[in-house]
Amino acid sequence: MRKRRIVLLLSLLTIPFAVRAQIPDSLAIQQMVAILDTLDTPPDFRAEPGEFRQGQGVGVDTLDIQDGRLLLVLRDDHTWSYIKNFEKIAQDSTFTQDWIPNSTNPYKTPLDSLPLRNSICLVDSTSSFVCPNQTKVFSRFGIRRGRRHQGVDLPLRTGTPVYAAFDGRVRASMYSSGYGNLVIIRHENGLETYYGHLSKREVEVGDWVHAGDEIGLGGSTGRSTGPHLHFETRYQGFAFDPEWIADYETGQLRANVFVLRRSYLNANSRYVPESIDEEEEIYATDEQIIEEEKRIAAEQAAIRYHTVKSGDTLSAIAKREGKSINAIKNLNPGLNPDKIRIGQKIRVN
Ligand SMILES: [Zn+2]
Repeated sequence: MRKRRIVLLLSLLTIPFAVRAQIPDSLAIQQMVAILDTLDTPPDFRAEPGEFRQGQGVGVDTLDIQDGRLLLVLRDDHTWSYIKNFEKIAQDSTFTQDWIPNSTNPYKTPLDSLPLRNSICLVDSTSSFVCPNQTKVFSRFGIRRGRRHQGVDLPLRTGTPVYAAFDGRVRASMYSSGYGNLVIIRHENGLETYYGHLSKREVEVGDWVHAGDEIGLGGSTGRSTGPHLHFETRYQGFAFDPEWIADYETGQLRANVFVLRRSYLNANSRYVPESIDEEEEIYATDEQIIEEEKRIAAEQAAIRYHTVKSGDTLSAIAKREGKSINAIKNLNPGLNPDKIRIGQKIRVN
């Protein structure tokens, strides 16, 4: 269905756009003529949507789709591909809120305000994962010699290229005493990845990178005992074990969609290969927390206020609500019963 629509778009839009583009060189004109020739024979042109395969030809035009976040590139060999429109994506709140260049943690969200479970899309048809440095994990996430270790250590030889794990925008490219040369990339799904101890940084703040782009060279700068990549994954500034999302020895992502539990955002919470039992146990605990949160929400929903009107006294308000003055005072810490004023909101339930 989608392909048929693309064919229709192509047939309707290629000519005017190609003409409007006014490409000056002769090769481009030849290419344009080739397209025009095809359009002169509509039956062939429209015959098989399958002709319009994803391809490598020279782009002749782009069309906005999906809110402009994706561009459909039409190529001169009658192929097409999607590319991300980073200009549009840059306007997302993910890239405008809490965006402080070269801050190691720009977020101020309290942990308990984050959802218990959050499904995070890691890869889709337009984005992929590339292991930043494929090797066995040398030092894991968690408490190490009494200190928090907020990532995994992936050994390498100094000078080995380090790759962006996902598409995203560089939020930090800086030197810090702990991380040494550090690159932080923010991704469209809200995650941030940290790449520490680099011998060289090859990206600047604001750069857009694709998964697999070289962002620097591995090294041992900062607080490090030997060349390795210190790799962190964070959500709202809270680090979680990077092994939840990928196996760094095989370089494979564990799943396309990652269910981030709030409990993972804790210094002691390590990746555990999930068995059905564990899964059920964690699930049961979460259900209890959800029930508790529902109860609190219901309580909060039941809260009512009375706005003081002319002639109101606290005892009259209490009487109307069928409550004692003390009960009203308990609901309103700091309330002075002798000094209520018109317009004041007094909690009555
Ligand atoms: Zn480390």
